[in-house]
Amino acid sequence: MRITVLSGGVGGARFTRGLLRLLRERLPDGDGGTRARVTVVANTGDDLWLHGVRVCPDLDTLMYTLGGAVHEEQGWGRREESRRVSRDLAAYGLGWEWFTLGDLDLATHLARTELLRRGEPLSAVTRRLARRWSLPVELLPMTDDEVETHVVTDEGTLHFEEWWVRHRAALPARGFLQAGVEGASPAPGVLEALAGADVVLVPPSNPVVSVGTILGVPGVRDALRAAPGPVVGVSPIVGGAPVRGMADACLTAIGVATDAAAVAEHYGRRVDGGVLDAWLVDDADAPAARHLSEAGWTAAAAPTLMTDEDAAARVAAAALDLVGRAP
Ligand code: GDP
Ligand code: CA
Repeated sequence: MRITVLSGGVGGARFTRGLLRLLRERLPDGDGGTRARVTVVANTGDDLWLHGVRVCPDLDTLMYTLGGAVHEEQGWGRREESRRVSRDLAAYGLGWEWFTLGDLDLATHLARTELLRRGEPLSAVTRRLARRWSLPVELLPMTDDEVETHVVTDEGTLHFEEWWVRHRAALPARGFLQAGVEGASPAPGVLEALAGADVVLVPPSNPVVSVGTILGVPGVRDALRAAPGPVVGVSPIVGGAPVRGMADACLTAIGVATDAAAVAEHYGRRVDGGVLDAWLVDDADAPAARHLSEAGWTAAAAPTLMTDEDAAARVAAAALDLVGRAP
């Protein structure tokens, strides 16, 4: 069984970790792992250069979460992290107060930057970094090209991370740009992972600046539309609000209501020219599932709060179940 996941950071990483637990239980390989093959295509629109190093927030959140090193409560970054280097940078007047670079995290960025400077593409670099963590998935950046999400505001255009972290998404966004996307191509393996998947999962990641960004890479949306396996998504909006973060600000900027059914309709059904076949909402949004079912969708409601790995495994099971692919 081959499964491909289109992921942002925290929501996608927690979902994928749950999926892997489910697969280890139901499709064990006899060696503590699973015989299912999981490929994760990660958003790299949040990537940025900072203090001369390349930071890839979503790839790192995935790597630390699936590698067992994530700061659990925070959802991103390393556990048992310290901030000595960033404090010392600040003493030179070079700190970026609104973006934290932990010391252990910095080692990842330094390693990545060194490999990039040697001329390796990001996908190869990511594979190298992932090897250290013995990741139970194939982790792919959406593209090897530098494509950065920028946010258009009345006070100018900002890098996504500046808008999200520094302004807490409170500065009204007029729209999002993918700087550099025109000439970008999917990273090696991305299109193949969609064409070869028995099922494609869209986790409860940010529909605009995580999944939307991946779909913006030329060729990806078409490949998803043509994928032979069913495509099933899980709503990141529960009871009319994001579970964590400010996805509502992103949805508002593109004119989509912060509502589980509205997000599904924004993605659209493949039979109508969209990218999904089925949509799982939270129990709190059971009316949204009914509304979508009446409109011809394959939709259901289930608990979707990924409070721990077991809960996340049940969310993954419910998503697979919806398209008859639960192992
Ligand atoms: P980011 O890159 O770190 O922002 O992470 P993602 O894009 O992967 O996921 C962010 C989205 O995940 C947010 O919109 C949250 O509402 C959603 N999310 C986080 N935790 C949960 C959860 O436990 N259940 C559901 N349904 N959505 C969640
Ligand atoms: Ca992100």
